[in-house]
Amino acid sequence: MQKRVVLTFDDGPSPEWTPLILDELKKANIKAVFFMIGHHVQKYPEIAKRVVDEGHTIGNHGYAHSVMLYYTPAEIEQEIRYTEHVIKRVTGQTTKLFRPPKAWLRKAIKNKVKEMGYQILLWSLNSKDWVKFNHRYIVRFIEKRVKNGDILLFHDSGSVFSREGADRTQTVKSIPLLAKTLKAKGYQFVSIEELLGVDQKLDKALAF
Ligand SMILES: [Zn+2]
Repeated sequence: MQKRVVLTFDDGPSPEWTPLILDELKKANIKAVFFMIGHHVQKYPEIAKRVVDEGHTIGNHGYAHSVMLYYTPAEIEQEIRYTEHVIKRVTGQTTKLFRPPKAWLRKAIKNKVKEMGYQILLWSLNSKDWVKFNHRYIVRFIEKRVKNGDILLFHDSGSVFSREGADRTQTVKSIPLLAKTLKAKGYQFVSIEELLGVDQKLDKALAF
């Protein structure tokens, strides 16, 4: 069986970077997952719509990109529901995938998120694109570590200390090179639904 990977992009949508990433994904015929920040969906609705129109999967990444470590279950519910509402209003779609900012969640919160019907999806391989390595380095880093079934983490917005503003040039440039490199190694880029199976519980694949 062919080896498979999924690409995921966090912190968007961004009017500057998401369209460039979408262009590259289209050229490489890859369907990815975009974990969007609710506030950015509200700010850039056209970009969020384009992600959906081009057949990618949307995930919920919270409204304000707050660290959720000290949230109460009620606060997390409010934040996820509000983001859900914004995504639905803007794109007409809903999602049952949630990725917490910085991957930080307490046990009580994880349980709350699952109770709400969400699957918590982390990643298994971090591209570290936020460090601003050259795209050749990013691809080499992934090429050395990639395994069948990996979920790769990239960013289409965000920055180290704020929700947006980072330069994602290297992320954009990584996509065609990564597509070429991994395809040559026998990998196929699949959607998250395809990787995990539509009927399968998504959180089987997770780090939690
Ligand atoms: Zn994030």
